[in-house]
Amino acid sequence: MKSFAVTGKRENRFLTFLAEGIQDVFMENEYSLYDPPKDDVKLVFNFIDSQNPRPFRRKAQATFVVSVIEGDGEEGSDIRKAAYPYLIRSLANHLMYIVHGEGNTTVYFLTPEQGFYQISYVPGQEKDFFNKIYTRLEPLSSSRLVINNEFLDDLPEDLWNGDNITQTMSSSGKKLDQMNLLPAPFPLEECLTKRDMRHLNKLYGIGGLSYGNLSARRDDEHFWMSASGIDKANMVSVGEDFLYIKGYDEQKNTIRVSVPPKVKPKRASVDAIEHWMIYKEHPEVGAIVHMHAWMDGVQATDINYPCGTIELAETVAKLVKESENPSKAVIGLKNHGLTITGSSLEEIFERIDGKITPQVPMS
Ligand SMILES: [Zn+2]
Repeated sequence: MKSFAVTGKRENRFLTFLAEGIQDVFMENEYSLYDPPKDDVKLVFNFIDSQNPRPFRRKAQATFVVSVIEGDGEEGSDIRKAAYPYLIRSLANHLMYIVHGEGNTTVYFLTPEQGFYQISYVPGQEKDFFNKIYTRLEPLSSSRLVINNEFLDDLPEDLWNGDNITQTMSSSGKKLDQMNLLPAPFPLEECLTKRDMRHLNKLYGIGGLSYGNLSARRDDEHFWMSASGIDKANMVSVGEDFLYIKGYDEQKNTIRVSVPPKVKPKRASVDAIEHWMIYKEHPEVGAIVHMHAWMDGVQATDINYPCGTIELAETVAKLVKESENPSKAVIGLKNHGLTITGSSLEEIFERIDGKITPQVPMS
C-alpha cells in the first residue's frame, strides 16, 4: 500500500490550499493518508518555515521527505542559492520552494544532486498544477534506495594495499578534481550540525561534497569503486578510499564489499548499484566515471530518480545497452550529470577531454 503524510504548519491560505491539493491528488492516485505519519510511511510533505526549518525525523530509510517552504527569494534572484540550504537543513530528499509573483506563483523543485526545475501555478488551473506536482514527485518517492553495504573482511591479502587499478583510480581522481566540477554551492558542513551530518550520512550515504565517482573492473566478478563523500584528489587506502565490490545481495538489498581485516570501512559510493549493473551486462566495460557535468548531444534519462536507487541504475543500464557502443557510452542523467563507460579510466578521460560542460541543463 502506498502511504503518505503531510506535517508541519500551514499558516496562510496558499499553504493550506497547496497542502489540500497535494492530499487530493495523491489520494486520487491510490495513496493512503496517514495522520500522524506511520513509521514506515513512504512519502512525507513537511511544511517548514524559514526561521526554524525543522527536519522531519524519519524512522525508515525508505521514507522520502519533501520539504515545502514559502521562500523569501524574489523572482529573478538566484533562487537556487537561496533555496538549497533549506533542503539540506531540513534533511529532505526534495524541496518545494514557493515564490509569489504578480498574478501567479512559481514552485521551484530542488534535489540533493543539484536538480532544479519549476512548476507555475495560475489561478483557475488547479487541476493541471497538482497533476504536474504528482507526475514529478511520485516516481521519485516510490523509487528504492540500494545504498546499504555489507562488509566482509575477506579481501585477498595481495589486494590490501591496492593494485595497479587502484593506482589508476588515484590519478583519475586527481583529473576529476582538476575539472573543477561544482561541488555543492554550500558546503554541507556549514549548514549542518555534526548530528545532522551523521543523520544525512546514515540515510543517504551523503558525506560531504560530491562531484562524482569512479570505478574500474578487476575481473568478471569484482570491481573497485571510490568511497562515498571522500576527496577524490587524494585516494590512498583500501577499505577507506577504494572499495572492492563483490556484488549485490538482492535478498538483503545490500552491496557486498570485501575489505581488509581491522579496517573501519567507509561506504561505497551510492552509485555502486548502477556500476554493478553495467559491469554485469557488459563484460567489455572496464571502467565507469560519473560526474556532475554535461556533454552536448547525449542520450538522457526522462525522470530524475535519486542517486543510489534501483530505478536510476536500471534506467542508466538500459540506455547504456541501447547506445551505439555500450563500452564507450556517455549517458545523461536528467538534472544531474553523466555516466560514462570505457575500456579503462585513462581511455575515458582521454575521450572526454575538452568536451565537458560544467553546467547541467535543468528542466
Ligand atoms: Zn551524482
